[in-house]
Amino acid sequence: MTDIRIEVTGLKKSFGDLNVLRGIDFTTPRGTSTVLLGPSGSGKTTLLRSLNVLDTPDAGVVRIDDVSVDFSALPAGKAGRAEGRRLRAQSGMVFQSHNLFPHRTVLENLTEGPIVAQKRPVDEVVAEARVLLDQVGLAEKADSYPYQLSGGQQQRVGIARALALKPRVVLFDEPTSALDPELVGEVLAVIKDLASQGWTTVIVTHEIRFAEKVADQVLFLDGGVIVESGPPAQVIAEPREERTQRFLRRVL
Ligand code: ADP
Repeated sequence: MTDIRIEVTGLKKSFGDLNVLRGIDFTTPRGTSTVLLGPSGSGKTTLLRSLNVLDTPDAGVVRIDDVSVDFSALPAGKAGRAEGRRLRAQSGMVFQSHNLFPHRTVLENLTEGPIVAQKRPVDEVVAEARVLLDQVGLAEKADSYPYQLSGGQQQRVGIARALALKPRVVLFDEPTSALDPELVGEVLAVIKDLASQGWTTVIVTHEIRFAEKVADQVLFLDGGVIVESGPPAQVIAEPREERTQRFLRRVL
């Protein structure tokens, strides 16, 4: 039986009169990478932020591993916020540009969350953080400060920091779009590495060639719905839907 890590059912989100997500359903098996593609404004970032409850959906169910929240029946006030926090803790988010603590070293950026928020033992957290820094190729930068790093290195620290919290899934919101072109490759390589190590990832990206290589599943969004989904060999190489074809013609 497949082990489903993320299950999204009937997800809806509006901002005022704007229906940004109009009923989203998908599942993500454990250890797979899902790439969200679609034109600007199609709802990709809102969907990603909904998984992490940075945006609170109006309706629908999100389950990540053993935590499930029904946003159609979310209790008001404190109880609802507690449910949201439980779901948020299941995922780690990597943003467009690193939002590292500027006055903390690279190592401290990784250890702060696990020590302060998760109250885990310092020795264990530091040892794990060093392993993670090694994984993203930055072992020798542990004692540097963010301003001493390139944009690509900072983004790799951002990824390691998300992993340090041991999330069940890692969410990437256009992780390379704020980088100079020559720095994109090193960050994509780290993400690809994570995917091959068995992390479950959901990635919003405009890098179609990268999506083709890394994705197990591509969801093509337009107008707040999933227009087409499947492996990249289908959705990217041989899209069935006219809207997908039109989008790919524009970006490829
Ligand atoms: P994408 O990531 O596909 O470009 P987004 O999810 O960022 O799309 O945005 C979808 C639509 O929702 C856009 O029209 C955007 O302007 C709107 N939107 C996103 N966030 C907000 C917000 N906090 N308040 C109002 N409108 C928003």
